[in-house]
Order: sequence, then C-alpha cells, then structure tokens
Amino acid sequence: MTVRCRIAPSPTGPLHIGTARTALFNLLFARHEGGTFILRLEDTDVARSTAAYEADILSGLHWLGIDWDEGPAMGELAERGPFGPYRQMARLESYRAAVEGLLSRDQAYECFCSTEQLAADRASQEAAGQPPRYIGRCAHLTAEQRAQRRAEHPAPVIRFRIPAGRVGFHDLVRGDVSIDTSALGGDLVIVRSDGTPLYHFTVCVDDATMGISHVIRGEDHLSNTPKHILLFRALGAEVPAFAHLPLILNPDRTKMSKRKSQTAVADYIDQGYIREALINHLALLGWSSGTDDELFSFDDLVERFDLSRVQQGGAIFDRERLDWLNGQWIRRLSDVELVERSLPFLRASLVDAETDSSLPTADDLLPLVPLVRERLPRLDAMGPLVDFLFLDHLSIEPTLLVPKRWDAATTIDALTEARRIIAATGETVFEAEELEPPLRALAETRGWKAGDLFMAIRVALTGRTATPPLFDTMVALGYARTLERLDGARLILDPATSGT
Ligand code: GLU
Repeated sequence: MTVRCRIAPSPTGPLHIGTARTALFNLLFARHEGGTFILRLEDTDVARSTAAYEADILSGLHWLGIDWDEGPAMGELAERGPFGPYRQMARLESYRAAVEGLLSRDQAYECFCSTEQLAADRASQEAAGQPPRYIGRCAHLTAEQRAQRRAEHPAPVIRFRIPAGRVGFHDLVRGDVSIDTSALGGDLVIVRSDGTPLYHFTVCVDDATMGISHVIRGEDHLSNTPKHILLFRALGAEVPAFAHLPLILNPDRTKMSKRKSQTAVADYIDQGYIREALINHLALLGWSSGTDDELFSFDDLVERFDLSRVQQGGAIFDRERLDWLNGQWIRRLSDVELVERSLPFLRASLVDAETDSSLPTADDLLPLVPLVRERLPRLDAMGPLVDFLFLDHLSIEPTLLVPKRWDAATTIDALTEARRIIAATGETVFEAEELEPPLRALAETRGWKAGDLFMAIRVALTGRTATPPLFDTMVALGYARTLERLDGARLILDPATSGT
C-alpha cells in the first residue's frame, strides 16, 4: 500500500506544540514507510483564520524541518503536488460537487429548522435528561413539502443522514473502537445556511480526494472518527486507517493549554531552543524507542519510528527534559553552526543593554565558542555569558563584587594584589597558563580561598558570577581591558582608591 498521510492545521492560532508533534509523527511515519507527507490548510472557519497564523504555522513547521511533499505555497516556495489547491477555501467547488452527490443519493437532505425550533428541541431534551440530538424533523419531507419550505426559507442547512447501527474501526494506537451511531447527535450539519461547508465534511472529502491512507491525529478527534467513517462510506471512498495520538499534558497531568502553558512553537524558538532538540523532544511526546536511548536525530527517528510504540496514555511535556536535550544538541553543533545560530541572540541582548559599542560579528564570536559550548542550555544564554566582552561600560552590582565570606576591605586588597600580579605578567605572555599559578599562589600566601579571590576578579571583569573559565576570560578581554576593569571595580568599592 502507498502511504499518504497529512497534517491539516486550521490557521486559527499560532503553531501549537501539539500540531507540531502531530505533524512530526505523520512525517516520520511517511518517511519510514517511503510514503508521502501532505500539508493542507483547513481555513473554512473564515472568522477566526488569519494570514498571519497561516504564515506562523507554515514557517514554524519549515523551521523545524517538517517539510511537506505536497502542500500550499510558502514565501518563495511554490505549491507542490497533484491534488492542489491545498487550502480548503480554494476547494469549495469540490465540496459543492460532493454535496450534490450525497443529496442525489438521499444520503443528505435540506433542513429548514429554525434556530428557535432547534433551541426548543435542545431544552426539552435537557429537561428529560437526554443528550442533545437532532430529532429529524426535516429528514423525511416529501418533494412537495420541501418545495414549500424552500419558498419560505430559502437558505437551508444540509444534513448528512447518520444511519442506525454501530460503527467500528481498528485504531492503530488505541485498538478496537466501536460506537452506536445513536450517540452521534443525530443527522449532521455538513453545509451551513450560507453555503459554507463544515469541518467533518471537508476533511473527509479532501482525505478521500487526496488519497490519504493514514489519518494520524490528536486524541481529541477520536470521537469524530465514527462520523468520518460514515462520511467516507457515503462518498464511496476507501476508509483510511486511523491512529489517534495521546494528549500532551503538563507535569501535573492537566491539559496543556494556551492559558496555562507555553504552547506556541515560536516562543520556544525565541528562547533559543534548537530544532534538533525540539524534534527529539516532540518525538518522545507519546512515542518511545523501546530502548534507554534518549538522543535521536531526525534520521534516527525515521529509522525507528513505528506507530505500534505510540502510547495510549497522556504524554507529559517535561520542560527539564527539553532543556537537557537542548544542551546536548547544542554541544553537537559545529563551531560555525553554533556561532551562526547564537549570534542573533547575543546581538539582541546587547541591543537590550543599549550599548553604544559596535555589535559583534561571527568572527568575534567564533573564538569564544569552545569556552561556552558546555555552558549553554539554550542559545539565549549566549548573551549573559559573553556580553561583557562587547560592552564599553560594565555596570557592576557592588554587592556582587564582595564574596560572601569577605568584606569590602579584603576585596579591595585582593583586587589590588591581583592587579599587581597580572600587570607583572605583562602583555607579551598574557596567557591562561601564565596567569593562573601566581594568582593561586597569592590566595595561598594570604590565606584566602582561591574560589573567593577568583570570584571577586570574575565579577570585576565581567559584572557576572557565571562566565567562561576565568583565565580564558582574561585572555579574551586582553591585557589592557583586564587591568582597566580591575581598576574600575576597586573604584566602585572605594572611590578613594587610585590606580595601581
Ligand atoms: N483542522 C483540524 C485541526 O486542526 C484537522 C483535524 C484532522 O486532522 O482531521 O484540528
């Protein structure tokens, strides 16, 4: 069988983590099976769909590397695939033709019930403790009655007849599912009175037309599937296989929602998560490899992915695991790649600091990469780690300068002595191996903990307590700036101190 699967996002919000996960599982399945991955925009909810959300979804998926074999145009990329257009609002003609087919076979009918009638039906069902369902008032009108109603009510909705009986299917994740159609709410509206088709209908017409073999989607759609199966049958189409993926949950097992959790993929990108880590993390939201391995590249995932190892229970979104994966994948980037990806973050943090110094270039950042690579949980950590090198004026918090076990006088003493030793090292041999031994010896002779001395120097040079290794930091700053900053720090603690 040729595998054809799809992601069918509605552009009614930014790209959601759940949509990205579903898209990824579809893509992995398609790649593993040598099949085709299709992207279709379900934009028939005109009031809530926007071009901006559409752009966010397409560019977010593309950024993640979740690219489609068939789908709509994006920026410079042209529409691809033989079943276009891949936007539902551009496919209205095909829904119209499908409705005509259903009407002509009496699998659908016009319904003239007014809003008031439907509300009254619902109220009496509620009073009787029954679930709401359409009572079928218009289901069996004679041709004459229909003509009469049409004259009074020229804009009917179209309902699809839900036949009596049970619908069963084998879900590739959840196993056998069976439901009595009496629980489906009665005959289903598939076209609104303004002529626009509704989701359940368009999704089936498109899946049928596009030859979708596997519908892999979130568990929230499980209850829709019986309706879809009935629609596929009525359309004379082959019913695809279904796989419903578990919900994504917060660590407290509540549903991951926009209000409570960070759900927009763009926010993760803005915080410096990299695509390798996000893909790895998304893959583990409901799928496991069956081994203890945790790091998976996209290619590893393609090789191993299998719907039979998708779990039924909710998948916990564990931010700590994502952070860990991100650090791991950052370590695996080449120097050049890490520079390219982190430079925008560094530049943004310097712009935030309103520095008048010139912004660093890739060449400025490249030599620092070996010093910071292991210290980057996210790309946005680059700024705080190395920004001191690019700031003309360091603003130092005086309380940070004095180590916990020390007072200001000891700190001034220590910085003065350190300055003397560093100055004596001289500009020509200003290297980490030359700087470290005499400063360690200083701590020892004065009975200071080396950690305290180094922390005072670190804050004096960088304004921060977490930096690249201290002696490398000095070398990166250079001889003159190192001495200048030590002087500056002494002045902060004791404005009476003069240079040297
Ligand atoms: N447009 C639907 C959604 O965004 C697609 C559902 C489906 O995959 O069938 O939820």
